[in-house]
Amino acid sequence: MNSQKITMGADGILNVPDHPIIPFIEGDGIGPDVWTASKRVLDAAVEIAYKGKRRIEWKEMLAGEKAFNQTGQWLPAETLDIAREYLVSIKGPLTTPVGGGIRSLNVAMRQELDLYVCLRPVKWYKGVPSPVVHPEKVNFVIFRENTEDIYAGIEYANGSEEAKKLLAFINEIGGGKKVRFPESSAFGIKPVSKDGSERLVRSAIKYALEHKLPTVSIVHKGNIMKFTEGGFKIWGYEVAEREFGDKVFTWEQWERIKKADGEDAANAALKNAKAAGKLIVNDVIADNFLQQILLAPQDYSVIATLNLNGDYISDAAAAAVGGIGIAPGANINYITGHAVFEATHGTAPRFANTNTMNPSSLLLSGVMMLEYMGWLEAARSIEEALAVTIMRKRVTIDFYNLMNDATLLKTSEFADEIIKNIQEK
Ligand code: NAD
Repeated sequence: MNSQKITMGADGILNVPDHPIIPFIEGDGIGPDVWTASKRVLDAAVEIAYKGKRRIEWKEMLAGEKAFNQTGQWLPAETLDIAREYLVSIKGPLTTPVGGGIRSLNVAMRQELDLYVCLRPVKWYKGVPSPVVHPEKVNFVIFRENTEDIYAGIEYANGSEEAKKLLAFINEIGGGKKVRFPESSAFGIKPVSKDGSERLVRSAIKYALEHKLPTVSIVHKGNIMKFTEGGFKIWGYEVAEREFGDKVFTWEQWERIKKADGEDAANAALKNAKAAGKLIVNDVIADNFLQQILLAPQDYSVIATLNLNGDYISDAAAAAVGGIGIAPGANINYITGHAVFEATHGTAPRFANTNTMNPSSLLLSGVMMLEYMGWLEAARSIEEALAVTIMRKRVTIDFYNLMNDATLLKTSEFADEIIKNIQEK
């Protein structure tokens, strides 16, 4: 059977053929080691789950050092064309070029393909060394807005012509007094839009409904930044009520009922909504949320948040489950279907070609990719086999150093072990 492209249907549902062509970037530094291991596991899981009926045809695309050495470009236009054409792709870590040109290859890919969701599941695998007492209580999915906010890259150095012009403009519109040291200030602009906020929160709500999860929590700093972060919250609630109607119950609704009929009535409505299996959409201030990750993580299932908050929250949450080295991630545009699944760690250049590093981050990104494609059986089998491998304490150096009585495995041996556990199931 011929291999085919994954396409997006007019109904907004992905068409995934049995032999899809999926482009990959192996990545720099430890990338080739962790990619080779991950690819072997992904292929084995698909082969076993679908008895050979389904198979991924991998297509290499170049980026990073390898691309630079072969083509003189860090991110060849052809790579973006391929990622655009084939919709779903996966990548290892890339070196950030130093000095001039592209600020970050990852950022460039996100912008080019308008990958507005940075999706980061945070979940503990039994046996993974964690700094918290009950890591098993942490199990949520973060939807981080990926295209706006103070990360948009609109920044002007102190003393620059642009900074001076901007200061003059701020003075003109009456904000000058708020700039504490006008002459020596650098400036950054924080664009947050209704369109951008709505599409992010909409995706988070759809995900929660599809996965039958109980809550979506909008995490923001709207108490301080009323129009940007506060706007994100308001637009989030609006899109929830307007587009999902009866399927959701929001804290805004709770507030309105409280105002009209009192708190008891509002609580009764909330109780009824929960009993009816409605999705509860609430909001939490970002600093409080960072406490909640440690104090009451079991209260959260889907998080919708802006770019900067999402950056901090993703790493803090991953640390709570000991997952910094194995946390997976994806950048997705749910409207066009474009998605790039990626390892969240860097290239760890000191360990390049040592066959010692943990491939789990890239492998679990591959699991997310299989889920996105609807190949759930293969995805589950990898997750289960990985969990068994960690439980048996047969691990790579990063976990080995934190466990008692563990067996140290090379990257390739760790992949062998996972494949063996898939076969045994
Ligand atoms: P890093 O994640 O590459 O490495 C930091 C340390 O984490 C390593 O020394 C190693 O001890 C550990 N580590 C990382 N991955 C591991 C793995 N799979 N298994 C076990 N241990 C692992 O971060 P860095 O040193 O700050 O960055 C190195 C390069 O990677 C830079 O060029 C940076 O820009 C780039 N980077 C790329 C990405 C990406 O492509 N997504 C992300 C972060 C950093």
